[in-house]
Amino acid sequence: MKSFIIKVLVVLSFPFLAMANSQQEMAYVDSLVDVIDPAAHHGIVEENNLWYPPGVEVNGMTEEIFNQVLDHVYKVYEPIFKARGAEFVIERRWNDGTVNAFARQVGNRWIIRMFGGLARHETITPDGFYLVACHEIGHHLGGAPKYNGTGWASNEGQSDYFATLKCLRKVWAQDDNIGYVEYMWAMESPFVDEYAMEMCMKAHQDPRMQALCGRMSMGGQSLAFLFQALRRLPTPPKFNTPDQSKVRRTSDSHPQPQCRMDTYFQGALCPISVNEGVDDRDPIPGTCNRASSHPYGLRPLCWFAPESAFTFF
Ligand SMILES: [Zn+2]
Repeated sequence: MKSFIIKVLVVLSFPFLAMANSQQEMAYVDSLVDVIDPAAHHGIVEENNLWYPPGVEVNGMTEEIFNQVLDHVYKVYEPIFKARGAEFVIERRWNDGTVNAFARQVGNRWIIRMFGGLARHETITPDGFYLVACHEIGHHLGGAPKYNGTGWASNEGQSDYFATLKCLRKVWAQDDNIGYVEYMWAMESPFVDEYAMEMCMKAHQDPRMQALCGRMSMGGQSLAFLFQALRRLPTPPKFNTPDQSKVRRTSDSHPQPQCRMDTYFQGALCPISVNEGVDDRDPIPGTCNRASSHPYGLRPLCWFAPESAFTFF
């Protein structure tokens, strides 16, 4: 019904669109979708009123780093989207103070919209910002479980899981992650968490994967601290205090900050190869799962209910 209403309104607005240039047209259609169907956008966090305009960079983020991260992600994922018959579009909104990021699909244009406001938030490191881009890519390519069982978008938990299970591993595949983690280890902040690194050493045999796992985990911590700040929670999420709650049915919406940090961490720990793809209907392929008794890297039960996660068509 919603999509029908959107189509009617878009058709009714055609005379106005005809007068506008293509950028204005897109912005107009965007605003219609925003008003009528906010769920058509899949945000990294719930709607909020924070606004971080340019010039308040307290985390060292610059427009250059913002663009470098997105250039890197685009270079790796453009051919992957193309192979799926889609055009990968990154909308860069450096000057926009919104503390969020979105994924949406308009025909075969599969879009992620990235805001400077989120990139400038004090909790966000460049690796945290990479992870946000990978979460949004996860809505497009992350597989089951999907929103409402059959929607186009992977749900929030799955997009988080995919971000470290596949996306960051692909994006950072050519980086010197061992050198990077050694450098991070030597710095006071942001350091590599000792417990997270210990678990990465247990879960992975290859030193390059161990380092990649440590780096991904710290990206997850940056983002989990953002979620904590947005929900004004007094206790910071930690790697060794996993969320103990269990859902009866898989939850599509944004899990609690600790639960999301656990998901990033488990995605990083899973030793399944990055080349084993996920599936749009079956949540098992390409993942660590209870059915195969994997000891590490399982999707946390604080959002994932294994028996209810299959997407039926
Ligand atoms: Zn999301």
